[in-house]
Amino acid sequence: MKATAEAPANIAFIKYWGNADANLRLPHHNTISMNLSGAKTTTTVEFVSSLDADEVFLGGSKVDGTGAERVSKVLDHIRKISGNKQRARVTTHNSFPTAAGIASSASGFAALAVAAASAAGLSLTEQELSTVARLGSGSATRSIPDGFVEWHAGSSHETSFAESLYAPEYWDIVDIITVVDADQKKVSSTLGHSLADTSLLYPARLASMKEKVESVKRALAEKDFPRFGELIEEESLNLHAIMMTSRPSVLYWSPATVRVLQALREWRQEGLLAYSTMDAGANVHVITRGEDETAVTQRLQALKGVEKTILGKPAAGAHLVK
Ligand code: ADP
Repeated sequence: MKATAEAPANIAFIKYWGNADANLRLPHHNTISMNLSGAKTTTTVEFVSSLDADEVFLGGSKVDGTGAERVSKVLDHIRKISGNKQRARVTTHNSFPTAAGIASSASGFAALAVAAASAAGLSLTEQELSTVARLGSGSATRSIPDGFVEWHAGSSHETSFAESLYAPEYWDIVDIITVVDADQKKVSSTLGHSLADTSLLYPARLASMKEKVESVKRALAEKDFPRFGELIEEESLNLHAIMMTSRPSVLYWSPATVRVLQALREWRQEGLLAYSTMDAGANVHVITRGEDETAVTQRLQALKGVEKTILGKPAAGAHLVK
């Protein structure tokens, strides 16, 4: 009745923002991502007969409120399909800043789904595990399969799942996660999602997504890095335009965020190809080719306001460790 799992965070190249069904966390369109080697969660789940409520400890501190309810939602689903009624003790640790736009919810709920299913004695398929992870966090769906991943939006719990497009070794690109603010963001992603459709720009975004998903998949298939980079940077800016024009407006950027975005443009003029993509947070994910990793990292670390960088190489998905 006890199991431990590890899961990577992932960076979305096509973002998930806004829900078709907020309870099931069903998105409006497919999304594409890459799992990250340098940012992971390790979670142990133990079902204990003497507990009368689930207990969650994140980085040594007890989690209450919404954070604990989200964990119990995943555990309730596992209890429902396994018939096991016991409550669980969940001990989890993130190797990187929590709630800062580096997808701790993705790695957190993917690791939880894998550990809880195993602790309850279930042997679920990868597809099923990705649906279970989604109940805690939409982006967690994508941290289950390996490498480069597509999440199929679907229209029900069973049909909204992720699958691997390519193994981690398929393409030598890296995500240099550029931390300019390691503090917890002031507006959670869950709240941000609920505001998406208050932006006048949101219908235009939704209308463009099908074609954008196809374009990114084509650039991935052709390993066309400049095209890929242009597409993912534009997609991320589109997402942040939605956030900024929501009611109320959500502005995640800090002065150092803008400094990084501008520097990348200058470096591209010089021929050093690196592109930005950002989730809900101030930190910038800088995507570059493996051969340029050292040069780009050195330049990023020299910029004012950059606290540190974390290297994310394409990585395997969630897996059991014990
Ligand atoms: P992020 O950009 O880090 O994904 P979100 O606002 O989307 O930020 O999600 C952060 C929330 O995810 C946290 O407040 C917490 O509720 C949850 N979370 C983070 N890490 C874990 C974990 N290891 N296990 C369970 N829940 C977690």
